[in-house]
Amino acid sequence: MHAFIGQMYPLCRSITGAGFRETLSLVSRHIPLEIHEVPTGTPVFDWTVPKEWNIRDAYVKDSAGRRVIDFRRSNLHVVSYSIPIRTTLPLAELKDHIFTLPEHPDWIPYRTSYYQETWGFCMSHNEMLKLKEDHYEVCIDSSLEPGHLTYGEYYLPGEKEDEVLISCHACHPSLCNDNLSSVAMITFLAKHMSEHPRRYSYRFLFIPGTIGSITWLCLNEEKVSKIKHGLVAACVGDPGKSTYKKSRQGNAEIDRVVAHVLQHSGSEYEIMEFSPYGYDERQYGSPGFNLPIGCLMRTPYKCYPEYHTSADDLDFVRPECLADSLRKYLAVLNILEKNRTYLNIYPKCEPQLGKRGLYRLIGGDRETGFDQMSLLWVLNLSDGSHSMLDIADNAGYKFSIISKAAEVLEEKQLLQLTENEITG
Ligand SMILES: [Zn+2]
Repeated sequence: MHAFIGQMYPLCRSITGAGFRETLSLVSRHIPLEIHEVPTGTPVFDWTVPKEWNIRDAYVKDSAGRRVIDFRRSNLHVVSYSIPIRTTLPLAELKDHIFTLPEHPDWIPYRTSYYQETWGFCMSHNEMLKLKEDHYEVCIDSSLEPGHLTYGEYYLPGEKEDEVLISCHACHPSLCNDNLSSVAMITFLAKHMSEHPRRYSYRFLFIPGTIGSITWLCLNEEKVSKIKHGLVAACVGDPGKSTYKKSRQGNAEIDRVVAHVLQHSGSEYEIMEFSPYGYDERQYGSPGFNLPIGCLMRTPYKCYPEYHTSADDLDFVRPECLADSLRKYLAVLNILEKNRTYLNIYPKCEPQLGKRGLYRLIGGDRETGFDQMSLLWVLNLSDGSHSMLDIADNAGYKFSIISKAAEVLEEKQLLQLTENEITG
């Protein structure tokens, strides 16, 4: 995943344009992505698909012809969506178009101007201080013209049409944790899911933030009722603890599954309530959709100083943190796949476990298998109204132990799926 991030890192992505397309083509080397192109001007709810932005070069040259700001050194140097400009300016006027971060004077900030036609440069504060009184040649060789908004989609059919939606934004330029970490992780998650049998169908979206989810929801409204669970992935490669922001519903199955995985992960974590800010969960969780989609990340946006700066680079995301995030996502999907509701076939008093060969399992290892208590919990709570996850949470067991116990009890014909599970 880290090497894959390294491949995508140099591309100048934005919410539209060649950098976004090239990123999707790199993802397509791993999974068969369907590429959608939505024309500029397409109305999507209260929004309109914007003009397409592309950039070839940008610089500021001093009177000696030296590039004092050079897009070729870092694509963060240009405010994303800057209109084309060619002019000469004195330092004072140039400074009106320069953004820096005085509190982190060696870092380049990341700035955008999607919905206001303007131009600007970003640079480290220390480099800015070095600029002398001079007349500077300014060039942004960009285009902002009717074109398309591009997004990538990978639909993976399962036994049933009910879907799990996994979504990430891929619209930031050279920024690793915020954007590329989740693009890489979702690519490998999708690849893994494609290689295993699935009860649910899965839909993986690689979209530009905000306008991408609005566009997808608007053009695919008839598919929305199939979405039963979902996660927005972002910031999954930094060394911070895992953080889960709940769906708008707050107690959806996905919220309980992620909480369960984090509780049993053995490491520190945090769970946040939903708020109408952040990533695309705010569109999926708008009142007209109210989808059960939360956001599983590590350190949340804005909560690490490297956020939206050149310091969110290849060193800031760590292979072991990416791997840990992927493991947690896999654990979540595994529980969603296996979380079923059973009925105890012998609900009147306890069935006799000894005569069914389950006696020898008493005192089994809690970590690797199951013990008598897990069997008793499953039998007792399998009254048709408790799922395996309910039982695990009630009994304080890891889901895998309860799931294993249910498997054994089903094998011994003490347990059967509820009518709903069979027909649904
Ligand atoms: Zn961002």
